[in-house]
Amino acid sequence: MENLILDGKLVAQSVKDSLVERVSKLKQNGVTPCLATILVGDDPSSETYVKMKGNACEKVGIQSMRIHLPKETKTEELLETIQKLNDDEGVHGILLQHPVPSHIDERKAFEAIDIRKDVDGVTSIGYGQTAFGFGQYPSCTPAAIMKILDYYQIPIEGKHAVVIGRSPILGKPVSALLLNENATVTTCHSRTTNLAEMVKLADIVVAAVGKPNFIQGDWIKKGAVVLDAGYNKGNIGDVDYEACRINASAITPVPGGVGPVTISMLLKHTVDAAEETLV
Ligand code: NAP
Repeated sequence: MENLILDGKLVAQSVKDSLVERVSKLKQNGVTPCLATILVGDDPSSETYVKMKGNACEKVGIQSMRIHLPKETKTEELLETIQKLNDDEGVHGILLQHPVPSHIDERKAFEAIDIRKDVDGVTSIGYGQTAFGFGQYPSCTPAAIMKILDYYQIPIEGKHAVVIGRSPILGKPVSALLLNENATVTTCHSRTTNLAEMVKLADIVVAAVGKPNFIQGDWIKKGAVVLDAGYNKGNIGDVDYEACRINASAITPVPGGVGPVTISMLLKHTVDAAEETLV
């Protein structure tokens, strides 16, 4: 069966193209959208992610303010940094790169981000708003998954979506967003007893597990749409791509699927937040 490869680079480019004029209008009004990224410690993958996000900002004319704190930083010191950014009118979005060193209270740090600047949807208020259906800035990876479905006009209403993973930044919010679009949603996790049987029921599969090649080809119902949010060492997704694409009608590759769209949604949310300061 011929299947559709859901090209994240194409989707990301369309999102970025839509921002160029908005950024230039903001600048005409004296506002340069600005995303502040905070990196704590020197985890090489986190450093790469933050660099990629900063570079992507600059390419569309968004200012990138990069704050790099030593790994010994205490929770209180991180909270002070976040407070300064909350108070800085020139900053429109704040991204605290996850994970922070284990001695830091990450949840407390996320909660300290002003809801108006929570462009990565990490606060509990942001999550609650997303679940209620009026959130301005859902987490960027869930938002990216919805954007891919929208770009390729894949129907959601009435479909059975099975999400594997229930993390606060990915599995839970993407389940909420799919439910808001009238999918029937099953959210699976490490205690789900009959995972393969659950996935076999899915019209839409979202893999958000954090385990390489975890989703097996024979779990995929013929014609299902498969979205792989996983990003494991060596650029490997959570879906066994070659095996799963046999039955899938459409599938995201890794790399080049959900990842690039996630970054473009972060840029979009930053521009949205900057525009909010004009009204
Ligand atoms: P996480 O916080 O570690 O959550 C993983 C989830 O998978 C948990 O809910 C866990 O269940 C579930 N799980 C673990 N083992 C399982 C099993 N054997 N069967 C069923 N469920 C299982 O990870 P995350 O932050 O959500 O990230 C998930 C993946 O997405 C990772 O590969 C990450 O790198 C990737 N990611 C990608 C992007 C992007 O931009 N593309 C952004 C963020 C994350 P429990 O809740 O029961 O423990």
